[in-house]
Amino acid sequence: MKFDTELIHGGISEDPTTGATSVPIYMASTFHQTKIGESQYEYSRTGNPTRAAVEALIATLEHGTAGFAFASGSAAINTVFSLFAAGDHIIVGNDVYGGTFRLIDSVLKRFGMTFTTVDTRDLTAVEAAITPATKAIYLETPTNPLLHITDIEAIAKLGHKHDLLSIIDNTFASPYIQRPLDLGVDIVLHSASKYLGGHSDVIGGLVVTKDAELGERVGYLQNAIGSILAPQESWLLQRGMKTLALRMRAHLSNAEQIFNYLKAQPGVAKIYYPGDPDNPDYAVAKKQMNGFGAMISFELQPQMDPKAFVEHLEVITLAESLGALESLIEIPALMTHGAIPRDIRIQNGIQDELIRLSVGVEDITDLLADLDRGFASVTD
Ligand SMILES: *Cc1c(COP(=O)(O)O)cnc(C)c1O
Repeated sequence: MKFDTELIHGGISEDPTTGATSVPIYMASTFHQTKIGESQYEYSRTGNPTRAAVEALIATLEHGTAGFAFASGSAAINTVFSLFAAGDHIIVGNDVYGGTFRLIDSVLKRFGMTFTTVDTRDLTAVEAAITPATKAIYLETPTNPLLHITDIEAIAKLGHKHDLLSIIDNTFASPYIQRPLDLGVDIVLHSASKYLGGHSDVIGGLVVTKDAELGERVGYLQNAIGSILAPQESWLLQRGMKTLALRMRAHLSNAEQIFNYLKAQPGVAKIYYPGDPDNPDYAVAKKQMNGFGAMISFELQPQMDPKAFVEHLEVITLAESLGALESLIEIPALMTHGAIPRDIRIQNGIQDELIRLSVGVEDITDLLADLDRGFASVTD
């Protein structure tokens, strides 16, 4: 089946007992065992039929063997990091989601794991960071908020050469744009709160493994740690996911038009978008992505106040998060990336002035008129 069809018919898309075309929300904590051990489900932390539907769907979409749904993207990431133990070393992309940085820096380090952050676009630097204790390479591509693109296939190869797991947070792309498991990666994960859910109405996380044995280990941890996605949220998530392809096509088209608009604006000093032919990562993006995503970051000219710009918009919503129907704009240094110490942030290229835009699916005319409004507010 093609991707668009898999979204609709993949996983468990109808109720096997009644034929209802929407999978029911199974609000049950436990299940009757007709004989001891003889039941498909036992207890809803371990497995729930509504959760199973969304887990099967993401496994299909990402071309993996097993899918797992969690209460949030952060819960998914924490569970994946629980594959490792004290003394293990993990190489992490230097431009990861702020919450992932916080989890590593203020929680996981206390458990005796060690981390080295590297610009994973630089394969020599990644290889140089490998020590005898290294167990995994963890990264995002595109990154947040600078939209750097790492060559996924090259990282997976490097990982296999050194017997390391490669793990990719695919939140910014979604499986519509790229499927890392096809490129050799071992684990792909998502904050489903973004493009997969798509409607700013659910918090969730998803993990997919390529290897069945690794899937069993993640499943064991999902049950042991227990940060699972509840039945209502599982239903809402699979409902949102069904329109992913339709939404992504609209997101991508709007993003391209907004990029062209921003590129021609004298008020824009710098622009970060993988589809920019002048972007150093353009060739890798073109090779591995089906479309360039719908995130654009930019810096205004130094005399222009980015706070005034974002606060004068009327259509584009000033808010954290991304991947929603509605366009969302924010200033990472003051909002999503505020937890990262300023010196580290600047060192990683995230200036105080940087603006991040998640392009939604509104009519492009209204979005461009809104950006005009923003520029008018900072130009005298
Ligand atoms: C939002 C986000 C997360 C965290 O997900 P939550 O669902 O908010 O816990 C992780 N990675 C990326 C890239 C994200 O954008």
